[in-house]
Amino acid sequence: MIVAEGVGSATRELVFPGENDPRWMDLTIAYFTIPRQADDDRMWRWYNATNGRSISLRPDTHGTTRAMLSIQKPPEGEQDWDVAQQKAFLQETFSDAGWQAQRVLEGMNNSDDFYFDVLRQVRMPNWSKGRVVLTGDAAWCATPLAGIGATLAVTGAYVLAGELAGQNDLPSAFANYEKAMRPMVEEGQGVPKIGPRLMNPQSRLGIGLLHTALKIASQPALRKNAGKLFSREPTAPDLSPYPKAPGPTNSHLA
Ligand SMILES: Cc1cc2nc3c(=O)[nH]c(=O)nc-3n(C[C@H](O)[C@H](O)[C@H](O)COP(=O)(O)OP(=O)(O)OC[C@H]3O[C@@H](n4cnc5c(N)ncnc54)[C@H](O)[C@@H]3O)c2cc1C
Repeated sequence: MIVAEGVGSATRELVFPGENDPRWMDLTIAYFTIPRQADDDRMWRWYNATNGRSISLRPDTHGTTRAMLSIQKPPEGEQDWDVAQQKAFLQETFSDAGWQAQRVLEGMNNSDDFYFDVLRQVRMPNWSKGRVVLTGDAAWCATPLAGIGATLAVTGAYVLAGELAGQNDLPSAFANYEKAMRPMVEEGQGVPKIGPRLMNPQSRLGIGLLHTALKIASQPALRKNAGKLFSREPTAPDLSPYPKAPGPTNSHLA
């Protein structure tokens, strides 16, 4: 059985009880879509309020605007609350945040794609037990902060499929899969916890320092090097031993 249920996998907890040692990133996030308004420009706008709160607005290609709320704080079980409780929590937390908070909260209450999570990495000592194997976020969620979760999920599925197709010995296939994927996963999970703190300061002074640092980093002379600092090629496993998936044929396209 392949378990690919995402970060909150219930089957993982049934098959590997207590084995996940999550790394909490001290960041709670909510994403949802709100109506576009005239002053939403093409840029992704980010607003910091005190106490680790931030609001971001990003116009999408569908004529609407993607809103994100985040709060830098230790986890308090909010991921297990129901949606009404999560929305009430955000309403209370952001009611005095300023900028476009009221518009965003109103949009949140009318949105039909509300997503909420308390960010944590999944850390499993083993990804298989008997005939059961974990993959994707269920095995190793790196959180959206790593920006590589989808790549890891697709690569992991490809490696696992390649190993299973290549032999009938499940323990060997699972061991090879784990050996191939661990370095890339560990690199992806290496994202420092200081990142959310730096991007969501608690005090006015911290917000001022962040904005000054971002202003300096965005100077044309520094922009290229600042970009290099934050983007790097992941250490991908060698995919050459696995057969290539067949491409689309005319019959599929007909
Ligand atoms: C806000 C946000 C932004 C992100 N940005 C990026 C990014 O820019 N780049 C990037 O690479 N990654 C990004 N990620 C991470 C990426 O989305 C995930 O790492 C990736 O989706 C993991 O894929 P998955 O298939 O393992 O899990 P999921 O995408 O979580 O899929 C698991 C699926 O299993 C379903 N499921 C759960 N339990 C059961 C069950 N018992 N039976 C049947 N189905 C079940 C769930 O409903 C879900 O549909 C982001 C994530 C978030 C939340």
